[in-house]
Amino acid sequence: MSRVLVIGCGGVAQVAIRKCCQVSEVFSELCIASRTLSKCDNLKKALEGKTNTKITTAQVNADNVNEVIDLINSYKPDLVMNIALPYQDLVIMDACLACHVNYMDTANYEPEDTDDPAWREIYEKRCKEKGFSAYFDYSWQWAYREKFEKAGLVALLGCGFDPGVTQAYCAYAKKHEFDEIDNIDILDCNGGDHGYAFATNFNPEVNLREVSAPGSYWEDGHWVEIPAMSIKREYNFDKVGMKDMYLLHHEEIESLALNIPEVKRIRFFMTFGQSYLTHMKCLEDVGMLSTTPIEFEGHEIVPIKFLKALLPDPASLGPRTHGKTNIGCIFSGKKDGKEKTYYIYNVCDHQECYKEVESQAISYTTGVPAMCGALMLLTGKWNTIGVHTVEEFDPDPFLDALDKYGLPRSESHEPVLVD
Ligand code: NDP
Repeated sequence: MSRVLVIGCGGVAQVAIRKCCQVSEVFSELCIASRTLSKCDNLKKALEGKTNTKITTAQVNADNVNEVIDLINSYKPDLVMNIALPYQDLVIMDACLACHVNYMDTANYEPEDTDDPAWREIYEKRCKEKGFSAYFDYSWQWAYREKFEKAGLVALLGCGFDPGVTQAYCAYAKKHEFDEIDNIDILDCNGGDHGYAFATNFNPEVNLREVSAPGSYWEDGHWVEIPAMSIKREYNFDKVGMKDMYLLHHEEIESLALNIPEVKRIRFFMTFGQSYLTHMKCLEDVGMLSTTPIEFEGHEIVPIKFLKALLPDPASLGPRTHGKTNIGCIFSGKKDGKEKTYYIYNVCDHQECYKEVESQAISYTTGVPAMCGALMLLTGKWNTIGVHTVEEFDPDPFLDALDKYGLPRSESHEPVLVD
């Protein structure tokens, strides 16, 4: 029995909420709160009569800490699930501390305004010190560790698929398969086709920022940064087939390098089709991916926000997306003095997801782990106080929950390695 406040009602949140409502014995009461109240009300209506979870809705601007505090104080949840955007992470963490409630999210903090001089100064120092230039990093949320520890609260960071399940796969490999892990390759393949020449599978602004940034990987104790999309490999994915994939910077590399200190190299690859890459390059070249506001016919517009308004809403891709995703981790290392390799991954079918929760597999593969992470916190299976990423907790109950609630694991002890 628990009361949960979900902030955000976009593609990922809608899946997480629908999945919470399948586990009413734990998620007995749920408040869906977001910027646009009608989205929350529509979802509540769609779920009526199909769940025993008691659902309420609320309007909230999660950029305003006092609004979030008022909402938490009036609803009194056991847990706040932040499934809005990374821009709101710090505000919602502050509100959770002020109201003494546990926190979780699906992506690490990045600022909405990357031209803010105060933020930029810290960012540029970090780029020099750490050697990667992505706008997001864990330092902002790790700075809350002491505050959460002192308050006796848990903050679970990045509990989607990647980040999220990929780190649980690493913790599982470390616990059951290896004495020492030398290399980790995280492979994220979307073999789905939505029929559009160009669309993003989750929030376009966050997605395009991530993909157009320089790539980087962890090697021998430091970051190696490379121009965007400059390392390409081909891989034959189970149930999907041969795909081109590109090395990207990704947030879980940072926490894995810290929590699996013996690891020599960690890389992240994501598949992209040629049409996506050609469109993205063109949009970037003409300035449409810029976050800097411009004057246009007497109005101020932010190019990437304008582009978001033109692109299909990721939540609308569900009915038209066919094919499968395959996301997982390939490891090499040692067990009992012998070299070994291991691959653990999940295959998810876009149309199966749509039949179950009216969403495509990208939102599904993020929303289901968010629900399972909340389940771990609410049932006390994950209860280490402080600010933590997924690999810091016991992977076994979490992977069991994923097996049960829609994202079962597959394994190979003889995987083809990525060169
Ligand atoms: P969407 O853009 O579809 O949804 C975002 C939701 O947050 C919308 O309901 C939006 O409201 C709401 N929101 C935005 N700003 C505010 C605000 N100031 N106050 C209150 N609500 C707000 O995004 P997604 O569902 O695709 O992504 C959700 C999160 O999941 C993101 O942080 C994303 O980075 C993360 N993610 C993580 C992945 C992983 O594997 N770990 C993979 C994919 C995504 P409105 O309807 O008014 O716009």
